[in-house]
Amino acid sequence: MRQVLEDMSLELADLLEQEKDPGLGNGGLGRLAACFLDSLATLAMPAMGQGIRYEFGIFHQEIRDGRQIEQPDEWLQFGNPWEIARIEDAVTVGFGGTIEERPDKNGRLIARWTPSHQVVGVPYDTPIVGYGNDTVNTLRLWRARASEEFDLAVFNDGDYRKAVEEKAISESISKVLYPNDHSYEGKVLRLKQQYFFCRCAIHDIVLRYLRNNVTFDEFPDKVAIQLNDTHPVIAVVELMRVFLDDHGMAWDRAWDIVHRTFGYTNHTLLTEALERWPVSMFETFLPRHLSIMYEINRRFLRQVIMRWPNDNADRQRRMSLIEEGKEKQVRMANLAVVASHKVNGVAALHSELVRTELLKDFAELWPERFTNKTNGVTPRRWLLQSNPRLARAITDRIGPGWITDLAQLDKLVPLADDIEFRALFRRIKRENKVALVRHLESTFPLGAAKVRFNVDSIFDVQIKRLHEYKRQLLKAMHIIALYQRLKRDPQAPLVPRTVIFGGKAAPGYAMAKLHIKLINDIAEVINNDPEVGDRLKVYFVPNYRVSMAERLFPASDLSEQISTAGKEASGTGNMKFQMNGALTIGTLDGANVEIREEVGDENFFLFGLTAPEVATLRSSYNPLEYIERSEDLKGVIDLIASGFFSPEQHDLYKPIVDTLTKNDTYLLCADFDAYVACQDRVAKAYLDEEAWARMCILNVARSGKFSSDRTIQEYADEIWKVVPVPVR
Ligand SMILES: *Cc1c(COP(=O)(O)O)cnc(C)c1O
Repeated sequence: MRQVLEDMSLELADLLEQEKDPGLGNGGLGRLAACFLDSLATLAMPAMGQGIRYEFGIFHQEIRDGRQIEQPDEWLQFGNPWEIARIEDAVTVGFGGTIEERPDKNGRLIARWTPSHQVVGVPYDTPIVGYGNDTVNTLRLWRARASEEFDLAVFNDGDYRKAVEEKAISESISKVLYPNDHSYEGKVLRLKQQYFFCRCAIHDIVLRYLRNNVTFDEFPDKVAIQLNDTHPVIAVVELMRVFLDDHGMAWDRAWDIVHRTFGYTNHTLLTEALERWPVSMFETFLPRHLSIMYEINRRFLRQVIMRWPNDNADRQRRMSLIEEGKEKQVRMANLAVVASHKVNGVAALHSELVRTELLKDFAELWPERFTNKTNGVTPRRWLLQSNPRLARAITDRIGPGWITDLAQLDKLVPLADDIEFRALFRRIKRENKVALVRHLESTFPLGAAKVRFNVDSIFDVQIKRLHEYKRQLLKAMHIIALYQRLKRDPQAPLVPRTVIFGGKAAPGYAMAKLHIKLINDIAEVINNDPEVGDRLKVYFVPNYRVSMAERLFPASDLSEQISTAGKEASGTGNMKFQMNGALTIGTLDGANVEIREEVGDENFFLFGLTAPEVATLRSSYNPLEYIERSEDLKGVIDLIASGFFSPEQHDLYKPIVDTLTKNDTYLLCADFDAYVACQDRVAKAYLDEEAWARMCILNVARSGKFSSDRTIQEYADEIWKVVPVPVR
């Protein structure tokens, strides 16, 4: 390719730059699915991804006057050569309407659902290529089109305008990705999106199975369906509906097959992310599915009563698929657990909290169902492709085996003590930092180009979706503390630092957007204060996304993983940093726990309350006690409150100050002093460049566990019972 382009006076790198990110997810959850697809193909597993072909992916973020501005992501504007429309595989999807029950020839009642409205799902296939193994799997994404039959009917009514309008409504289903991360939005269109693609996927899966099978006896042996969070859980009910209504199967048999087919992965403990749909919405749009869910619930609650005949109604109330209240709601997580034969969390700590807190009642009923699958990331994208300098250095020393067997990176352990390899590692890191800075300066002439970056400073990086639990505000408060140190004593020894933030806030999440504004206001003050010089710089990278991430991880020295313990299910950014030789400062949360286990306490900067300590502290927590006791903390909050960073509007940050001093739900005040002290240890360690490089190399060497190949092998062995089907 490079050769061909050269003959046309084109550079491959320039051509690749033209490629738009397919931003079809919000953050870690969607990116994890993409890493899994890469691993599935590389492991030659017969697997397929199913989802929605959004016309507009995650919004494009601009920063104007320090604030986030959302712009539509027109990724299909110039076409998409990587996909093939499979018009012949289109599927009809019904909504609304009525149900009739009629006896079949054996006298059994068969339901007949007559939808009032139909749309058509058209699949678009994108090839997913395995690494060097000739396996090409498929990512099948569904686009909503108005149904022709329906079109004709409405057009023939003579109301042309209404007909066109209804066509647009049908096609709106796959129009845009909901931009919320870790927060549930109970909008009809979202439920329609979920049912739309689940209906299409289930139809596709059943059809594919029936190409080679006459009965459904072997369905669970031939098919495994993994539910990536609760978003596709309606697929469980759809498969029941297909078995019962389309194939006349008896309930018990249908349920047995469904149960042995599905697995459910839980991705969060945050209650605001657990999907609950109003029963009334199902009545209107999916009446048949509602009746099936009621029957699943009736049978399930009977099991609960049999198991705990003497319990009061409280346990049934907690476990029911239906939440009672002034608006009855369907709990999708409960449905997922009841329907699936395996339920897993995404890191050891998270899975433990799923078992003992979030889904405690269910784990008591079915302990064998609960398991852990610690997340991973694909080393092809996150090391080989994104960090070619480091990848080459590794291959030169240990050969290319690590690319498909990341555990082999442990052969680098002795090289941590090799002075030449350490020098090489430092040179590579510096080159990556220079390359990042050049890219930022040329991409953001009015932003990054105005910051005088110091590539010899610590590149201290926090890149992830903006969320209070992830505590970007804690990092911002640390910066203010460092700034105040410099202002108190301009000669104070300060190890130079460049703090880089990146991440999108959900458009409706006012507090997260205010955090972005604060970070940018802090940057404005600090970057332009001559007394600070090049010792402290702050930069918020606009529009953080995968292509930007690929430049940031290789150029980072310090990985910020500072969520309130117990809140981050796993994290995967933490793994990408480690693989690229950044050291982690972090709490004992998510996969940080396992990263620390792998690298050793001496190669990890740990601080903060643990998850059990957080749980204990909560009931009696008063942030003012911490503020009174810490001069640094008080200074930071006072400076924000004074309007120093927002001279044009002194009370701009009042919501932040109020949250910190009154609720402080995410315990920033409780962790602040420990965080600052730990950062001082980081700075001191950075001064010893040999020891620092040694720690970085050990981090890379011990990142083998965090390959998504390992994760997928575990899913395949323990949940799906699937073995590779190599091409040769
Ligand atoms: C890896 C990744 C994430 C997830 O980051 P966390 O720190 O685990 O939240 C989000 N967005 C992008 C673009 C990523 O590459």
